[in-house]
Amino acid sequence: MKKIAILGSTGSIGTQTLEIVREQRDLEVVALAAGSNIQLLEKQIREFHPRIAAVWDSKAAARLRENLRDLDVKVLTGMEGLLETAVYPDSEILVTAIVGMLGIRPTVAAIEAGKTIALANKETLVTAGHIIMPLAKERNVQILPVDSEHSAIFQSLNGEGGNKISRILLTASGGPFRGKKREELTDIQVEDALKHPNWSMGKKITIDSSTMVNKGLEVIEAKWLFDVSPDDIQVVVQPQSVIHSMVEFEDGAVIAQLGTPDMRLPIQYALYYPERRPLGGDRLDFEALKSISFEEPDRKTFRGLSLAYDAIARGGNIPTVFNAANERAVAKFLNREIRYLEIDEMIEACMSDANYMPAPSIEQILETERSVYDYIESRW
Ligand code: NAD
Ligand code: MG
Repeated sequence: MKKIAILGSTGSIGTQTLEIVREQRDLEVVALAAGSNIQLLEKQIREFHPRIAAVWDSKAAARLRENLRDLDVKVLTGMEGLLETAVYPDSEILVTAIVGMLGIRPTVAAIEAGKTIALANKETLVTAGHIIMPLAKERNVQILPVDSEHSAIFQSLNGEGGNKISRILLTASGGPFRGKKREELTDIQVEDALKHPNWSMGKKITIDSSTMVNKGLEVIEAKWLFDVSPDDIQVVVQPQSVIHSMVEFEDGAVIAQLGTPDMRLPIQYALYYPERRPLGGDRLDFEALKSISFEEPDRKTFRGLSLAYDAIARGGNIPTVFNAANERAVAKFLNREIRYLEIDEMIEACMSDANYMPAPSIEQILETERSVYDYIESRW
């Protein structure tokens, strides 16, 4: 039995991870953490019997503790709960499926404790990649990508040994507003932005996909995971989401991974790497598909993508500013406090106001996050 812990078990990636556990039967869940959905968490605890469970919200944690009096499970709360889940002594793999920079400290703690990381939580790598990648190397810990594009790149590198990557071709669906111009997006409502054409995901990443900030975050994530300069990472719009990403080598050969849009594949691949296990579900039908098309991303409409390249070129704490501003802007948009086009305006304003720090420590990353939030509160 391979023992796993999951941060964010009640979300889109978390529940799909548990589907795989249910199917495969040789994985044992030892620790689970979630934000506030204790109803679902309780169900998961009763089905998978973790030894500990963490709930961010302390009132919800107290209620869960009460509901689980008949079971032998320790219920924790707050950052302490996330950290204990991350380093739970028995676990071998930590699936990081929480949203946002909140994942930094637990991810670092898990690497220090020698856990293999199945990484979905891209915001952690975007803001702290310069700390996480060297630390993982030093501790000889594997970081296995769960994000579908990065898993595709990782799969395309199988057997390539030290062959140099000449380019990463990071594919994007283009989101629900592909083909629209900026003027057409002024009245976009939350419901419109939550309709992704190909993937079903959590709310924050669905909004990020619609603005293409998600692709910007993924460019930065790819830079850290594969040690490739952002100039050699090209975003290619591939509207059918059939090609999950590609790698071009120095001889011009391009290797890609294709498949239906199903996150269970990259999650399962990370859990069992390097083994491939059977997985149910639809298969690509090339006769029905007929064509796979490509487009150039529209950087004028989706400014988040250019801002991400700018953030990584400036480096230091600027990717943190980019990410924190986006996290807050998306939360405000979902709360209907700001208009859709204000999301990238807010990111741009925060990036031009930022105090540059060259190689921020975790404390400085979190300090940068706080000052971005303060700046947004003072201006919006
Ligand atoms: P989601 O919103 O569906 O789930 C988030 C999970 O985190 C939930 O279990 C929630 O309870 C938990 N959570 C939120 N706040 C918390 C807190 N303060 N403490 C503890 N737990 C907390 O999100 P998701 O779509 O599953 O995305 C998770 C991560 O994976 C994100 O970083 C996202 O970018 C990345 N990702 C997701 C997908 C996808 O298909 N959903 C694909 C690629 C990458
Ligand atoms: Mg992705």
